[in-house]
Amino acid sequence: MKELSIYNSQSRNKEKFEPIHKDFVGLYVCGPTVYNYAHLGNCRTFVTFDIVYRYLLHLGYKVRYVRNITDVGHITTEFDDGVDRIGAQAKIEQVEPMEIVQKYTLYFHEMLSHFNTLPPSIEPTATGHISEQIRMIETILNNGFAYEVDGSVYFDVQRYKNVHPYGEMSGRNVDELIENTRELDGQEEKRFFADFALWKKASPEHIMRWPSPWGEGFPGWHLECSAMSTKYLGETFDIHGGGMDLKFPHHESEIAQNTACCGHKPVNVWMHGNMLTVNGQKMSKSLGNSFLPHELFAGEHPLLDQGYSPMVVRFFMLQAHYRSTLDFSNEALKAAEKGYHRLMEAIAKIDKCSPGETNEFNFVAFKSNCYEAMNDDFNTPILVAHLFEVVKVINSCFDKKMSLTQSTLSDLKTFIHELVHNVLGLKEESNESANDSTDHLMQLIIQLRQKAKENKDYHTSDLIRDELKKLAIQLNDSKDGTTWTYEK
Ligand code: AMP
Ligand code: ZN
Repeated sequence: MKELSIYNSQSRNKEKFEPIHKDFVGLYVCGPTVYNYAHLGNCRTFVTFDIVYRYLLHLGYKVRYVRNITDVGHITTEFDDGVDRIGAQAKIEQVEPMEIVQKYTLYFHEMLSHFNTLPPSIEPTATGHISEQIRMIETILNNGFAYEVDGSVYFDVQRYKNVHPYGEMSGRNVDELIENTRELDGQEEKRFFADFALWKKASPEHIMRWPSPWGEGFPGWHLECSAMSTKYLGETFDIHGGGMDLKFPHHESEIAQNTACCGHKPVNVWMHGNMLTVNGQKMSKSLGNSFLPHELFAGEHPLLDQGYSPMVVRFFMLQAHYRSTLDFSNEALKAAEKGYHRLMEAIAKIDKCSPGETNEFNFVAFKSNCYEAMNDDFNTPILVAHLFEVVKVINSCFDKKMSLTQSTLSDLKTFIHELVHNVLGLKEESNESANDSTDHLMQLIIQLRQKAKENKDYHTSDLIRDELKKLAIQLNDSKDGTTWTYEK
C-alpha cells in the first residue's frame, strides 16, 4: 500500500507523512470564535479535518486531535486590535459574554454532530488557559522578542525577523505591507506596524479581563493556539490545520510565537483547507453571503431552492478536494443529493446480491485505487469516483448481469462500509429531527388542526400551534400544506 502523503503549506509540496512518534499523531485545528452562529463555510473546514482525523484513525494511528474554542474576545482587523467580537455581540444581545460563548458553542456542536463529525480528543478553551498564555508571554519577553508598553505586550516582529524568517508560509513580506496599513487602535504603542499584541491592557469598559504581571487585560489573537497546542501536543507536533484565510497573520504569528518561545518551529506539516464560496466569493458573515446549516437543512434562505439533508451536504463537500474552492449552488447540491442516494442504495443492495461461481470484478485493484486516492493528500473526489465505479458493479450484480463470488461480495461489503461510514463519515439518512413514530404523530396532529381550520374552529387550531410551540415544535404553513420542524 502506498504511503500517505500530505501537501504541506510550509514547503508547498506534497510530502510523505512521517509522524514524530511512530504510530502516534498530534493534530491541532483552529476552532471557531464563538461570537455568532457557525456558517456553512466554517463547517466545511471542520468537515475537512474530520476526514483527515478519520483517515489517520483508519490507518491505525493513535491520534490526539485538539481543536480549540476561541472564547476570548477576538479582534477583527488584520494587524491588531479592533473590536472584541464576543463583547460586541454580548452588548447587542444584552447578555453576559459567557452566555454568548455558551449559546454559539452549543450551536456549533449541534451542527457538527448533524454533519457526523467526530468530536476532537480535547477541545480546550482560551479562557481556560490564561495562565499558560501568560507564561508563554513571559518566556517570549525573557527571550527578547517582545516588549511591554503601558500594560500591553507586543511581539517584536522586526527583532524576530532578524533571526528567523517571518511570513514564509503565506508568502507575505511584511515590509511591503507597510504602505497599506491604516492607523489602528494601539498602533502608536508599537515599534513596528506589524507587531502584534500578546497581551492587551483592558479598557475600563472591557468585560472579559484577567490579572497579569502587566495589569488587567486579555490575551492577543494568536496566542491561545500557541499555548494550547504546546500544552497538549508538545513543542513540536505533527499536523496543524485551519482554513486558508488563517495563514496570515494567524498562523505566521503562531509560528513566530512558538519559535520565539522554544527556539524551534512548532509544526511539521501545515494543512490549509480552501474556502466555500458563493458565486465565486468566499462565504463570510461580513460579506453578507453566508447562510447557516439549519437554514440549509430547512431550505429557508433566499439562496436556496429547497432543503438539503446534512449527509447530502457532507457528500457535496467530499466531492471537492479540500485544497480547491467549493462553490455553493442549488444545482451542485441537487446533483450531490442524487449521487449520495445512489451510493447508499447500492451499499444496501450488496446483501441482496446472489453470489456467482466466477468473479468478474477485481477487488484487489479497486481497494488499491481507493487507498491511492486517499493517500494522495486525502483526495476524496477521486475516491468518490472509484466508489461510483463500484456502484455500477453492485447494480449489475444485483441485476444478475455480472457475477461476483461470495468472498468478493463479503470483502466488498466490509471494505465499502469502512470507507463510506468510517472514513468518509457518511451515514444512512434518517429523519434528522425525529424518529418515524414522532413524524407519524405529527402528521396526525397537523391533520386534526387542518380539520379544525376547515370547521372554522380557530380556537383549537391556534391552541394546537401554541402548545406545540411550547414544546419547541414549529408548524410552517404554506400553500402546499403544513410541515413541522424543531425550533432552532
Ligand atoms: P472563525 O470562527 O472565523 O475563526 O472561523 C473558523 C474556521 O472556519 C477557520 O478555520 C476559518 O478558516 C474557516 N472558514 C471561515 N470562512 C470559511 C469559508 N467560507 N470556507 C471555508 N472555511 C471557512
Ligand atoms: Zn489558531
